[in-house]
Amino acid sequence: MSKIKVLCAFGVPDEMARRLKEEIGPVTILNSHEEDEIVDAIKDQHVFVVRSKPKVTPRIIENAPVLRVVARPGVGTDNIDKESCARHNVEVVNTPESSVSSVAEFTIGLAVSMMRHIYTTCALLKEGQWGKGKYTGKTVEGKTWGIIGFGGIGRRVAEIASAMRAEVVGFDPYVPEEEFNNHGARRVLRLEELLEKSDIVSLHVILNEQTRNLLSAEALAMMKKGAYIINTSRGKVIDQAALRQALEEGHIGGAALDVFDTEPPEDREMICQENLITTPHIGGSTKEAFQQATEIMIRKLKDLLQPDLTGPIGD
Ligand code: NAD
Repeated sequence: MSKIKVLCAFGVPDEMARRLKEEIGPVTILNSHEEDEIVDAIKDQHVFVVRSKPKVTPRIIENAPVLRVVARPGVGTDNIDKESCARHNVEVVNTPESSVSSVAEFTIGLAVSMMRHIYTTCALLKEGQWGKGKYTGKTVEGKTWGIIGFGGIGRRVAEIASAMRAEVVGFDPYVPEEEFNNHGARRVLRLEELLEKSDIVSLHVILNEQTRNLLSAEALAMMKKGAYIINTSRGKVIDQAALRQALEEGHIGGAALDVFDTEPPEDREMICQENLITTPHIGGSTKEAFQQATEIMIRKLKDLLQPDLTGPIGD
């Protein structure tokens, strides 16, 4: 019988908690993201499972004397203070593989919705307006699609966009040229070149000091007039105020954002702009991604925690 105790943050799906209980050990589920509640509950816990919330702060880690792993089923670990984890020998695991198809398909869906006015015309029709004639769209076929960040998701977007007969270019200084070629894209060595050439730009970078505000006012100004932007990565990679202005001026033809600099977004006027479509950070939210994240996380936890899963562990 496993003595490993698992603390699940508020919002961890029931099915995931059920599988953790079956495979790892007894599970406690929190009722909120309040730091005080977490600090009280984490004292005798070995695994802390979180999603994009709560913030896993140094105070939480310092109050977790037997904690072995912080597990994030999903990709982004920016809510976890990795320095404190390293200082206290707490492993951080995530499952970046689990949401690749979900986010890539969603990115393509946003592009098509935006370029074919699917959102707008659907909303109008629900209000009783027949928009035919007014809303002529554009195809992905024949356009240049620029992919910034050629990791798991960027590569899958490249494959689908090239199958839709876009010319795909990619920028990622950390990926060798053959990876671009293997996934239907051509590498460009300068971000400026991608921005100047692309009709559609999608962002798939991680958030760090180099990628924060990567699409600054200056970068937006380099883009083709009327180009489209899709961001399913992290909100802070775009200067949101500069994007708002570029959309208002019509320099950017349309944008689709699943992620924002603050979530939920505070700039209501911006999100109501007609040439902007928005979703509440759901790019990775599919049944399949949750299932894969659960199973990959359990496998990684088992690898890390064996042989303690079957016997008592010190506390
Ligand atoms: P990944 O780590 O596989 O790929 C990220 C790529 O960004 C890497 O190839 C890296 O080399 C590249 N990169 C780093 N710095 C760069 C820079 N300065 N310029 C260009 N490229 C740079 O990550 P992934 O799994 O493909 O995820 C991509 C993004 O999608 C992440 O921000 C992740 O948080 C986000 N995401 C969002 C959702 C959602 O629900 N919307 C779900 C999953 C992932």
